[in-house]
Amino acid sequence: MVRERMDDEKRDFVSIDDLGNEEILGLFRLADAYDEDLRAWASQCTGSILATLFFEPSTRTRLSFESAMQRLGGSIISANDGEVMSAAKGESLADTVRVVGGRYADIIVLRHPHEGAARVASRFADVPVINGGDGAHEHPTQTLCDLYTLWKEKGRIDGIEVLLAGDLKYSRTVHSLAYALARFGASLVCVPFPGLEIPKSVLERMQRDWGADVTRGEFSDISGLTPGKDAVYVTPHKPHQESLFTQITPPAREKIDAIYMTRLQKERLERDLDSKDYPSIDSEFLKETRFRDTRVMHPLPRVDEISYDLDQDPRAIYFRQAALGVPIRMALLAFLLGVVKLDAPLPERSSRPVYRSDAGINCANPACVTNGEGHRYLAPEFTILRDSPPLLRCVYCDLEVSPSLVGHVASKKLHRGNAAEAKRILPERRVYFEDEGQADSAGFGTGATS
Ligand code: ASP
Repeated sequence: MVRERMDDEKRDFVSIDDLGNEEILGLFRLADAYDEDLRAWASQCTGSILATLFFEPSTRTRLSFESAMQRLGGSIISANDGEVMSAAKGESLADTVRVVGGRYADIIVLRHPHEGAARVASRFADVPVINGGDGAHEHPTQTLCDLYTLWKEKGRIDGIEVLLAGDLKYSRTVHSLAYALARFGASLVCVPFPGLEIPKSVLERMQRDWGADVTRGEFSDISGLTPGKDAVYVTPHKPHQESLFTQITPPAREKIDAIYMTRLQKERLERDLDSKDYPSIDSEFLKETRFRDTRVMHPLPRVDEISYDLDQDPRAIYFRQAALGVPIRMALLAFLLGVVKLDAPLPERSSRPVYRSDAGINCANPACVTNGEGHRYLAPEFTILRDSPPLLRCVYCDLEVSPSLVGHVASKKLHRGNAAEAKRILPERRVYFEDEGQADSAGFGTGATS
């Protein structure tokens, strides 16, 4: 059923899932119109103010948003150094965005080191919030640039084949892009630098939410790119129950539409990593015939992953990708501010129940906002993916957790996660626990654990 947008319903853009496919294509067409003459729109958002709140470094995301807003005739207020903001005095993100969204600005772009921070901001601010990158989690507006560029270069997104290379673990741009490509029916081949494989939670979400067929196999094909490791193949709309991590020998890829290169996300590494063999692409590498029509993309900044000798090659499109960030962000701002309407259905809302954990399980991701910035005022919250044995997904950072025990909120009785009694408890009466110690300190377990 198509959901109608209420006139006063604010739209946020925190995850790439916050826009439906038709809406995304609508934004591409709008961006094309803006791009024809970037100077022709200076009265479209007159009087509107964009606040850019950046608690991490940024060049393109912040400047392209600021440029986009000014090209639409709006103006900017900026706070781009956490050290000089009240956060340094102990102010919470929730309070900061409540203030900024209360008459200071009409829309906020936030970049923050904690995964899920933009979701928090969207809940506390009265104005639309755009995620400009939340830790290693997502970077959905970079994905809009990436998809828009691919759409312009290849004329479509469905059915194309994209190779993701480098640091697939911490590159948030990769995670949002992988979700979007799966949704649009494109195929991915992942070539991670060893130790920096795409997170299991990302693959699981692609499988669970979009039925992507995810297969892991020995990587023997494009081995020139990386010191020989696994590849994960992700293809759309296939039966997927048994396929996660099936061992296969992948067929030789005949053609790759795009290589999406990423830099080593040094700032997020949890331990030292010998990066001397980190992959790099140069003109020599692209000589193979199957790369004849391959586009080379990068969210930038590049360090050494793409040789400067490639910059003049027409297949190198990373600077075009960055430039297109302006018209696509103009389109996004105009849409979220309600200045333009898109003739497209709203994205479907998940019908899965949500569990708020006031006493029980926590998110296991140390980088999750519920374990960091928000621990003072946020209860962990999870989507219930499966009843028995229980499987939950953090609504902030998307990590999946499997609680071992389920208690009843009234009787305080405790059951093993896979026990029939646990399944019979209504979702709103359940309390999930990691272990007996946690249950015990919350006063659960008075009856025998079944
Ligand atoms: N600029 C992108 C980001 O903020 C990519 C990168 O930094 O490597 O995630």
